[in-house]
Amino acid sequence: MRVLILGGTGEARSLAAALDGRPDFEVTSSLAGRVANPALPVGAVRIGGFGGAAGLVDHLRTIGADVLVDATHPFAATISAHAAEAARAAGVPLVAVRRPAWTECAGDRWTRVRDIGAAAAEVAALPPGCVFVTTGRRDLAAFTADGAHEFLVRTVDPPRGPLPPRTTLLLARGPYTEPGEAALMRRHDVIALVTKDSGGDMTYAKLVAARERAIPVVMVDRPPLPPGVPTVSTVHDAISWLDSVAA
Ligand code: NAP
Repeated sequence: MRVLILGGTGEARSLAAALDGRPDFEVTSSLAGRVANPALPVGAVRIGGFGGAAGLVDHLRTIGADVLVDATHPFAATISAHAAEAARAAGVPLVAVRRPAWTECAGDRWTRVRDIGAAAAEVAALPPGCVFVTTGRRDLAAFTADGAHEFLVRTVDPPRGPLPPRTTLLLARGPYTEPGEAALMRRHDVIALVTKDSGGDMTYAKLVAARERAIPVVMVDRPPLPPGVPTVSTVHDAISWLDSVAA
């Protein structure tokens, strides 16, 4: 069975690795090509956009894909919409792999907001101080009008667009540790954390550090998945789903 995995996540890499030894699957992983040195999945990899949903339909037909797996990041809403549209148009079964969202624990001080604009409005209402922003390099425009706060911005690759006027930029790639995150927050006197609800373990340490320091968190909710797409939350369940399609 020919499988196209839309990737860019740890789950996509784990799935490609798990299927690599299986003679009944022929897997290609697809990356957007956004980051400079992406962690590459094992097996065949293609890099770059398809040219919208229509381009993805062409690609599915060209490689003779039997199934499509959307294992992209929970905030990669455009490619997920294209995957749903293209799978329907090409008549190819689609499954989405989405790690569970984070949930609040005792001691957390989270405010959930629907998008990055709402997060910036929450930050604007905070007292002066340093706000730690980990929402990714493309969402920083929302904060550029805020001259009242200092921003500690952490991204994987350097941001290209404008930054808030008082920004300290930190380039780093997870996973992070709780002591490391706590030390960073202490060093910069962080008064609030802004994050997307990415879920998973790789970047959870900042939320533990914020809890322990009683730092408020502005949590940007996930965009919804396109309706009607079967969804699993683990790589194990994705393999079971693929096996059921293959049977
Ligand atoms: P997006 O806004 O949903 O997609 C924008 C465009 O990028 C898509 O229309 C598509 O271009 C191309 N694209 C995205 N994922 C692709 C893939 N796996 N293979 C081929 N083309 C892809 O996506 P994004 O938020 O920029 O994220 C880009 C990639 O980074 C995703 O694969 C995602 O898994 C990963 N990622 C994203 C985040 C995040 O916070 N958004 C975090 C970690 C990793 P065409 O229309 O030309 O086909």
